[in-house]
Amino acid sequence: MRIAPAMLSATATLIAVTGSLPAQSPGYTDTPKLPSGWHVHDSGRPHPRVVDPGPAPAKPAPVPADAIVLFDGKSLNAWRGRKGDAKWSIRDGYAEVNRTGDIQTKQEFGDCQLHVEWATPAEVKGDSQGRGNSGVFLFGRYEIQVLDSYENVTYADGQAAALYGQQPPLVNACRKPGEWQTYDILFRAPRFLDDGSVKSPARVTVIHNGIVVHDCQDYLGPSAHRNLPKYRKHGPKGPIRLQDHGNPVRFRNIWVREL
Ligand code: MG
Repeated sequence: MRIAPAMLSATATLIAVTGSLPAQSPGYTDTPKLPSGWHVHDSGRPHPRVVDPGPAPAKPAPVPADAIVLFDGKSLNAWRGRKGDAKWSIRDGYAEVNRTGDIQTKQEFGDCQLHVEWATPAEVKGDSQGRGNSGVFLFGRYEIQVLDSYENVTYADGQAAALYGQQPPLVNACRKPGEWQTYDILFRAPRFLDDGSVKSPARVTVIHNGIVVHDCQDYLGPSAHRNLPKYRKHGPKGPIRLQDHGNPVRFRNIWVREL
């Protein structure tokens, strides 16, 4: 983009006054359109308002008696890596993404209640999708985005708690970088007919730091980058996958209850 001298001086004044650049909106307008009318990762799609969820919990949330514990802070035995064992670093009760690839549960789940605690790096590096990016994928396919969305602008359908590439959260309930955050996810698996068509889509309710950010929201299909989601018939159960997007995001206290 060519910037007119007048714009340059206005920008310079703004930087002088605020100490930072005005919020740009990264994203795309050359991608296909979603049924909502917005392009996938639309740079013009409005950003959800920010809601302060209150202080981070001092310790991990209690685990219900009938929950299947997927990560207790000590062992990733319930998970496998891209090749063999899950190799994320474990220390002080959390697992940290370390560029060894995504990890996914050995056990598969269908309809479920999933609790995940995560924290993006306290030392802020990068911006937009490059800051604290990870993700929670139900069935290894349907992503709930993990991102540092505290004063970090990215396209609305890619910010923290978005159904990536499809649906922004109702509000931005992100805590500061380095602080522990929670996702409580109620997931209903999609149902398919014999001919492969969708009988009922995947549906999710997500509570981020105690705040509802999706209320029975349908997935349009598996999460996709710069592309329209498209369902392909699969079985009634699948693994839970956590994304290694190259940023050292931390996870702790992960448990699931089958429904
Ligand atoms: Mg992600």
